[in-house]
Amino acid sequence: MNSNFNKRIIDKAKELGFSEIGFSRAKKLDEDEVWLKKWLDKGYNAGMEYMNNHFDKRLDPTELVPNAKTVISFLYNYYTETSQNENSELTVSKYAFGRDYHKVVKNKLKILFNYINNEIHPIKGRIFVDSAPVMEGSWASSSGLGWIGKNSLLINPKKGSYFFLSEIIIDLELYYNSPISNHCGNCTKCIDACPTNAIKPEGYVVDANKCISYLTIENKKEIPVEFENKMENYIFGCDICQDVCPWNRFAEEHRESDFIPKEEFLNLTKEDWINLTEDKFEELFFGTPIARAKFGGLKRNIEFTI
Ligand code: SF4
Ligand code: SF4
Repeated sequence: MNSNFNKRIIDKAKELGFSEIGFSRAKKLDEDEVWLKKWLDKGYNAGMEYMNNHFDKRLDPTELVPNAKTVISFLYNYYTETSQNENSELTVSKYAFGRDYHKVVKNKLKILFNYINNEIHPIKGRIFVDSAPVMEGSWASSSGLGWIGKNSLLINPKKGSYFFLSEIIIDLELYYNSPISNHCGNCTKCIDACPTNAIKPEGYVVDANKCISYLTIENKKEIPVEFENKMENYIFGCDICQDVCPWNRFAEEHRESDFIPKEEFLNLTKEDWINLTEDKFEELFFGTPIARAKFGGLKRNIEFTI
């Protein structure tokens, strides 16, 4: 093992735009097994059936990559002070302002993977960007990149939580980081601010059935009437439990040109949203995370929220 390997990987990842990089030994996540099982048994995964699939793979990286030794976790910043025009009245989560992060981050991880393989040491492995059964928050926290907050998101003590998480799992042994302690303390701001009570009163558990992010993105059915007047004008995703988190006072503007939103999108008024046509939807949102909801899904959200 060569300690310089870690440094060279970190340097290259930073050059590619990643904010934080951490290393964990690839082993089964025993502690998460109990938690995940309970969460699934209670049906908190809502319609996300894929969460039920590949239970073992989700917990054990060696099931995903034979002979896996290391999980490298990455944080990619998407925080922005840019906001939609005041006349918009309808809100989109910050993460969806620009080009689809899956593509942006995956391209960078491919470059990094090839760099490790060609310049550092031959490796076998896989890259993951919110795409396969990987417990991304658990790996990032076990790599010392932050702790899982009461809103169930990874909180970095120096930079907050507006990050995309991703991983490279490889068969190369490296030096490993240690987890850091949880600093949520007595804070309950995210629990108190969640308009749909999706976060359990004791924190750390989010019921996706009630979460605006789920209801406006993954949910393929009608939004249940119990959420009428509770959407806080969100029509795609929700940032409320991050906006109120005190650790996000440390969030810094991202530097990713691909995440810069189109002016025309920022300037959409409430009227424009209501009158959005399929052609305009394609023109504005092709290649962005909003395209995932499809025209019909976004229309449903707009009609439900106005
Ligand atoms: S994303 Fe919004 S709805 Fe979901 S838990 Fe956070 S505040 Fe609640
Ligand atoms: S708002 Fe408070 S309780 Fe919630 S994640 Fe942030 S620090 Fe933790």
